Amino acid sequence: MFDSHVALLLDQAVALVNALTDGEARGRAYTAPRGAELPDAVAAAVGHDETAARPRTLDAAQAECLAATAQCMREVFQAVQDGRMDAAAVAVNDLLRDTGARPHLDRAGDEPWRLHFHGADDSLAAAIGAGCATGLALVVGGGLTDRLGVCQAARCDRVYTDTSRNAARQFCSTACQNRTKAATFRARRSAAR
Ligand SMILES: [Zn+2]
Repeated sequence: MFDSHVALLLDQAVALVNALTDGEARGRAYTAPRGAELPDAVAAAVGHDETAARPRTLDAAQAECLAATAQCMREVFQAVQDGRMDAAAVAVNDLLRDTGARPHLDRAGDEPWRLHFHGADDSLAAAIGAGCATGLALVVGGGLTDRLGVCQAARCDRVYTDTSRNAARQFCSTACQNRTKAATFRARRSAAR
């Protein structure tokens, strides 16, 4: 449903939102890394990507910029989850504008030309933010919003993309799925007494 490049952009968006925004994760309060810990947290979240030709370093300012982008991306996931599509579209447009996303054909060596989405400048943070913004734009503008979600488990608000065949995913992780199953089972058992 997503081409592999879009899937990669969405994976990065999910990883950034889940690593860099406060809330709850798998039943516990989650506080995102800040200050000196932020650049490493960003690097861990984005992992390996296709922008290897770019400088690999993320300074504190770039990391802060991506943390703000992640907060705005969370808005997109939450709005979609709540069925507020107008709000989702507004948030995506904000992201596209703020990251300066622009389509650009690139190729590495003799590889075929591929469409990439660069940012306003060539910093790594701008490239990553622009890529994620474009991935979300393709989902929201492409009738694929049932593929974005916020975990439905109690005390969890981590986000995910749903690549299951029937778009039936409800949880960020197996941990949350199991936690919810166990809670439902306990509730049924006590109701049956
Ligand atoms: Zn969860």
